[in-house]
Amino acid sequence: MRLIILGAPGAGKGTQASSISAKYNVPHISTGDIFRQNIKDGTELGKKAKACMDKGELVPDDLTCDLLFDRIAKEDAKNGFLLDGFPRNLYQAEKLSENLKATGKKLDLAINVAVDEDILVDRTTGRRVCKNCGATYHIRYNKPKQDSICDVCVHELVQRDDDKEETVVNRIKVYNDSTKPLLDYYKKENILVDIDGQQDIDKVFSDISKAIESVE
Ligand code: AMP
Repeated sequence: MRLIILGAPGAGKGTQASSISAKYNVPHISTGDIFRQNIKDGTELGKKAKACMDKGELVPDDLTCDLLFDRIAKEDAKNGFLLDGFPRNLYQAEKLSENLKATGKKLDLAINVAVDEDILVDRTTGRRVCKNCGATYHIRYNKPKQDSICDVCVHELVQRDDDKEETVVNRIKVYNDSTKPLLDYYKKENILVDIDGQQDIDKVFSDISKAIESVE
């Protein structure tokens, strides 16, 4: 199964991607997570990525594509994967399609988690992530059992730098300008499924599961 999950910042892609990865046994590959790990590790890539991420802008395409193509060439992704946060624009989508075609592969499904724009800022600025394992929560809609502490690994929860309101507004603009056109792109390829991302987390997941099982 080769899947991608699309949606604006705050649509709930990361939360759903973790559940999909566990249920269907495919690696969850998030370019945002890879960049954040590089920032934490203080790598050169991390430094370049941080400058863009802090402004809510995209990291340069070639850098991102190289990184992603190396990752999907790894053993654990040979039979399938779930991409979260990639592709982010038409150039990346075309490069991905060429990369897969070169080895006789293709995407099976593009899952679009749709959420109205007015809800996105509230969802994104209220998001908290575990410093250690990356699990995500929301200060109102998906609270941890103990205030500011991760349920999974008992480490501290923090707000991502790019979840601050001024950055979020730009990320939503970048999504509308660059990423939204991918919906038409994958619709034309006949692999797009629209999921109502404003329902309960469990209902969103059950709709996504149905869509995945219909192409399995
Ligand atoms: P995310 O965790 O997917 O919301 O990504 C956080 C940030 O990482 C984005 O706002 C971008 O700055 C950067 N990023 C993640 N994925 C990509 C991508 N495919 N292309 C360019 N930049 C990306």
